[in-house]
Amino acid sequence: MGRRGPKAVDIGLLNCWEYEWYKAFHVLRDGRALPGGLAVFAPPLDNTRRQIRSWVERLKNMDEDEYLRINRLTCARIAGKADEASEATDEVSLSAAREWARGQRLDEIAELERYLDPKKIPEEAERRNLWKALWQAKNLSALQKACDQWANLRDVRAQGMSAFPNHILANAGEFLRMKADFRFPKSPSPAVDESRLEYLARGMAGILSNLSPMTGIERLRNVKHTQGGQLWKKDIDGREYCNCWRCEQKRTRSAYKLSAVGWWNGVALFMEIAETKKQKPTKGDGR
Ligand SMILES: [Zn+2]
Repeated sequence: MGRRGPKAVDIGLLNCWEYEWYKAFHVLRDGRALPGGLAVFAPPLDNTRRQIRSWVERLKNMDEDEYLRINRLTCARIAGKADEASEATDEVSLSAAREWARGQRLDEIAELERYLDPKKIPEEAERRNLWKALWQAKNLSALQKACDQWANLRDVRAQGMSAFPNHILANAGEFLRMKADFRFPKSPSPAVDESRLEYLARGMAGILSNLSPMTGIERLRNVKHTQGGQLWKKDIDGREYCNCWRCEQKRTRSAYKLSAVGWWNGVALFMEIAETKKQKPTKGDGR
């Protein structure tokens, strides 16, 4: 890393990295990218295990562009409106949308596989201990040990997420320093764990945006999500919204994220639409 000093802050880049780290830490701690996955506890309605296995296969063979297209149709169906295709127009939004689709797709695959075979995801207690070892690491050797174990988790390797512990080791000094800061939430209470995860995700976002961790943490914490905010966006069609990943999460398929039954319904609808819209004439390479 280069010298520190006043640097231009790219809040869009920070936002992207925060989302990536947020998911990576959640996968480490909970075995899933986003909190609130309830599929395991829900009855799969009328869906047979065989059908669910076929969904997993279908999702694995889907590229980001197809996922986005099916998702738009699903949202339109849920909203009871025709597909008004607020498709990303510029390259930056498109690549952000693809990145989102990639995470979303992997998350759904993981969730469905977890339902089919709960043993596929290592024990929850084991994950929590590993996460604890990471945030409690006081020196390089403790950090190295936690990161190595993290990188070697089967699902982490399968999802290509071993890069995250490697990024931490490559920036071990800064990682240990931000944990030593008085602002780091140290309380062992589970209620504090989410803000701890957020702190570290933002700090790592800062590092990967070539800023200091504290700059990342401060800037991301102070993002305004209302009109005039740093990530406020106005589309060509006049629609205005905060373009940060949190607000994006809330807007997307929120209808079925609210409950486990809703989650299954949403996936079932998505797969139903995917079945009927299998062919697409044109396809960019997407990667
Ligand atoms: Zn926002």
